[in-house]
Amino acid sequence: MKTLTSNADWLDRTRTALWHPCTQMKQLEATAPLPIARGEGPWLIDYDGRRYLDAISSWWVNLFGHANLRINSAIVDQLSQIEHVILAGCTHAPVIELSERLAQLTGLGHAFYGSDGASATEIALKMSFHYWRNSGLPGKTGFVSLKNGYHGETLGALSVTDVALFKDTYAPLLRQSHQAMSPDWRLAEPGESAETYALRAAADLEVWLVDHADSTAAVIVEPLVQGAAGMAMHHPVYLTRLREVCDRHDVHLIADEIAVGFGRTGTMFACEQGAVLPSPSGRVAGGEGASTNVSAIADFICLSKGITGGYLPLSAVLTTEDVYAAFYDDETARGFLHSHSYTGNPLACRAALAVLDIFGQDNVIEANHARSEQFTTLLAEVRNHPKVRHFRNAGMIWAFDVADAQPGFSQNFHRMALAKGLFIRPIGNTVYFMPPYVIEEPEMRLMANVTLDILQTL
Ligand SMILES: *Cc1c(COP(=O)(O)O)cnc(C)c1O
Repeated sequence: MKTLTSNADWLDRTRTALWHPCTQMKQLEATAPLPIARGEGPWLIDYDGRRYLDAISSWWVNLFGHANLRINSAIVDQLSQIEHVILAGCTHAPVIELSERLAQLTGLGHAFYGSDGASATEIALKMSFHYWRNSGLPGKTGFVSLKNGYHGETLGALSVTDVALFKDTYAPLLRQSHQAMSPDWRLAEPGESAETYALRAAADLEVWLVDHADSTAAVIVEPLVQGAAGMAMHHPVYLTRLREVCDRHDVHLIADEIAVGFGRTGTMFACEQGAVLPSPSGRVAGGEGASTNVSAIADFICLSKGITGGYLPLSAVLTTEDVYAAFYDDETARGFLHSHSYTGNPLACRAALAVLDIFGQDNVIEANHARSEQFTTLLAEVRNHPKVRHFRNAGMIWAFDVADAQPGFSQNFHRMALAKGLFIRPIGNTVYFMPPYVIEEPEMRLMANVTLDILQTL
């Protein structure tokens, strides 16, 4: 085997051998992908030894840095025991422990596993539909999602996704679904608060449900932050109110926390911020001593991305006792007959358990509050820059829009940042930071300074 030591060695071969995701391959003639040889905490290091700060957590998955010793050792330990076994007819300690701990954390239970975020969306949609069918309401087959929502790109998930560039080409293959008004506070009228706007969006959805609840199985939302829309944020009262609306009209609420789960928005799960606001329904699910936070809002929660700390593909859907009970029967076909080959993979589950251990041992949610404040302070000059609009922050996500952005802005910004050691990928004219939870002041200063520098030259 040829030894390859520099970036250049890899570029022709990747162009020929691969089909890169979310990429027009012809554009790779002009823009080479970054060949990454290794990682170290929040840093990515190429084959020429250059270092780049991973400001987007490798597509929002990495929580505790690359080559994290605690996660590494959990996976290595599991490797010597069992790497994988079929989960139909078998079970194992890592998947049981992970399911128990996720139930404790969410108040929902009966974890059903997939491999990617999109497969979690598919599972939640199918489960909701099948629940109504098992409950004698087979007419409830429709789904509602939000304008500019994103839930993955397999056909079922794409049906509830609303990003034209990903969706329009495949429209003839997709099921119709309804897209409701987004609670994104940037769309508020002048003088209207984020909270008032969120309440208006929830009321608008209710108007639609008044006429369509009989044919609707579930509403699916990205709680607090619509990521792919460009980190569009909304007031948590939207979740509180949406729960009430779903209760009134007998429709499930699916919380897609694939991007926002595991501490991203400042709480372990984003739904918790809607649950602390008073809700008249007083819903309780899960076992003795379970936190009822997520279950006070959602009937289903979809988890993936950060669940393994960005190590291995794993997703999970947790739901209520009520949903589970509707499938529990002597008749096989009333069960949830869905599967993926790598369902409940032990290595991935061990990585996830190590991630939950780190959350506990390092008091991560607390520590991130301080990190979040510190970086927000360091971004003061960026925030006040005349080209910056709608500066926003939720926990460990920061975003702003750039006024009068020229065509190609996102690519140009990406390239300029890369030359200064920062790996960042704006969405349209939105620049966002979603760093791993191991960044310290020097890395924060680098992100703030490089961003300010680039803004000055635009
Ligand atoms: C990334 C994402 C998905 C899809 O996850 P994949 O692992 O990319 O299939 C679904 N929903 C949300 C909110 C996401 O951010």
